[in-house]
Amino acid sequence: MTDRVDVLIVGAGFSGMYMALKAREQGLSHQVIEVGSGVGGTWYWNRYPGARVDIQSLEYSFGFDEKLEQEWRWTERYAPQPELLAYANHVADRFALRDAIRFNTRVTAAHWDAAADGWNVTLDSGEVIPARFVVLATGCLSVPTDVTFAGLGDYQGTIYRTSRWPHDGVDFSGQRVGIIGTGSSAIQSIPIIAETAAHLTVFQRTPNYSMPAHNGPIPEADWQEWLADPRAYRARSRATVGGFWNEAREVAIAIHTPPDEIKAELERRWAWGGFRILSGFADQGIDPAANKIIADFVAAKIREQVKDPKVAELLTPKDHPFGTKRPCVDTGYYATYNRDNVELVDLRADPLETFTATGIKTANRSFDFDAVVLATGFDAMTGAIERIDIRGVDGETIKEHWAAGPETYLGLMVAGFPNLFMITGPGSPSVLTNMIHSIEQHVEYVASIIADLNANQAGRIEATREAEQLWTDHCDQTAAMTLLPQANSWYMGANVPGKPRRFMAYAGGLHTYTDICNAVRDKGWEGFRIA
Ligand code: FAD
Repeated sequence: MTDRVDVLIVGAGFSGMYMALKAREQGLSHQVIEVGSGVGGTWYWNRYPGARVDIQSLEYSFGFDEKLEQEWRWTERYAPQPELLAYANHVADRFALRDAIRFNTRVTAAHWDAAADGWNVTLDSGEVIPARFVVLATGCLSVPTDVTFAGLGDYQGTIYRTSRWPHDGVDFSGQRVGIIGTGSSAIQSIPIIAETAAHLTVFQRTPNYSMPAHNGPIPEADWQEWLADPRAYRARSRATVGGFWNEAREVAIAIHTPPDEIKAELERRWAWGGFRILSGFADQGIDPAANKIIADFVAAKIREQVKDPKVAELLTPKDHPFGTKRPCVDTGYYATYNRDNVELVDLRADPLETFTATGIKTANRSFDFDAVVLATGFDAMTGAIERIDIRGVDGETIKEHWAAGPETYLGLMVAGFPNLFMITGPGSPSVLTNMIHSIEQHVEYVASIIADLNANQAGRIEATREAEQLWTDHCDQTAAMTLLPQANSWYMGANVPGKPRRFMAYAGGLHTYTDICNAVRDKGWEGFRIA
C-alpha cells in the first residue's frame, strides 16, 4: 500500500486544481488522480467544433488570485474551448500543480476504514492509496450517457462523440454527416460542421431554446469596468442567483407591466445576447403565464431566423417552460437551417429504428452517412460519483444511498460517508450557476472545514442524517416553487433511462447558498458531526 495522504482529490478540472492548491497552502499532503492525460476536465474532453463557454469569460475564470486575473487576457466575450484549455494549463503551470497530479489513472473505489478514520482509495492499476480526506472533483457533466442504438455495431462509417472529440480535430470536408441530439453541444457544433460537410442531417427528438451569443471582443465598457475594480466586479457576480452578473430585475410581468415595456425589455436583452433574457422579469421562472410571454417572444425570434415555417415550427420547444432546461447560447444555429446542405429530421414523427452498415434507418427513411456525431448528453451530477464504488461506514454505497435520487447535506457531504467531500455535488447550486464561482466557494469552504478540524485535533466530520434529510427537503421544496421540475431535463435525471427523478441542483441561488453555508459554519458546523 502507498503512503497515506491527507487529501486525495479525484479529477483535475478547475475544481481539482483549486482544491490541490488549497491543500498545499494548508501544508496538507495531497494527490490528485485524473483519468485524462491533461488538466482542464470539461475543456480537456469537449473539443467538438464550436465548443465554448456560455457565461462571459471575464466571470468564467478564477477570482482567487488578483495577479492571475490581471495577467490573463481573454480574446472574446465567450472563450472557445482551446482558450479555456490553455487557461487551465496556465493555472496548472503558474501554481506548479502538475507534480501532484497522476494522469491516465482512474479511481475505481473508495472504502471507509473506520480503524484509520480514513479512506482506502483504489486505482485502476490496482494500487490502493490511503487518504484521510477524499474530495470528489469529478465534474457534474463529465460522464457521457450510455445511450446506445440498435445496430450501432454494424455501422461502417465513423462515430464521434462530442464529449470525447479527437484531439487533432476532424475534417468533415465533402462528407455526409449525421448528428444525433440538439442539446448545447449540438447547437454549438451544428453551424460549424454545416460549413464544411457536403450534407448535414440533424436528428432531433426535443428542441431546445437557444439565444444568440453575439460573440466578439469583450465590449470596451465591460473591460474598463473590470479593470477599474475586479474585486467589486467579482463581488457583484457572487452576490447573485447565478454567480454572474445578469442584470436581474425585481419587476414582475404579472404586476401590470405594459406589453410594450415587456417587449422593449426582452428586445434589449436579446440584443445583448446570451443568458441575459433569463432574468428580465422576477416571475418568469415561477409563473407559467409570465413564462409563456418569454417563450412566445423566443418562438417569434426562431420564426424570424428560420425561413421554412415548418422547420421553424419543429425547432420551437413546446414541452417545457422557457429556462427549465439548460438554455443554449449559439452562433448562427437557427440560420444554419436555411442552408441547402442542412436537413432537420423530427424523431418524434419519424423515430430512429436502427443504425445500418451505411447509416441510419428511421421508421420512414434511410440515410447514408460517412460519419455520425453523437451529441447525446451526460449522466449529469451523479454519474461520475456513482461510477466509483464508494462504501461508507455501513458498507452501503453512495449509489445505494441515492436509490431514490441524490440526498446530500449542502451538496457537500453524504450521511454515512465521513471525510468525503463533493465539489458542486447534487444539492448545491452548481449547474444553475457560473460554475467557477461555485467551485471557488466550495473549495474554500471544504478547505476551511479541514483547517478547523486540524486546529481542533479532530479526526473526522460527517453530515448527520437529519441534516441531510432537511437539506434534501429544502432543495425539493425550493425547486417546487419554480417551474424547473416541469421539464424532462437532465437536471431531473430524465435523460438517463431508469435514473430516479429529482431536481438535482439547489435552486435557491448561489448567494443564498453561500449565506447558508456561512451560517452553518458560524454555528459551529451545524448539521455536521465532528469527532
Ligand atoms: P470537470 O471539468 O468535469 O472535471 C472533472 C474531472 O474529473 C475530469 O477531468 C474527469 O476526467 C475526472 N474524473 C471523473 N471521474 C474520475 C475518476 N473516477 N477517476 C479519475 N478522474 C475522474 N459551466 C459554466 O459555468 N458555464 C459554461 O458555459 C459551461 N459550459 C459547459 C460546456 C460543456 C460542453 C460542458 C460539458 C460543461 C460546461 N460547463 C459550463 C460546466 C463545466 O463542467 C464546469 O464549468 C467546470 O468546468 C467543471 O469543472 P470541474 O473540475 O468541477 O469538473
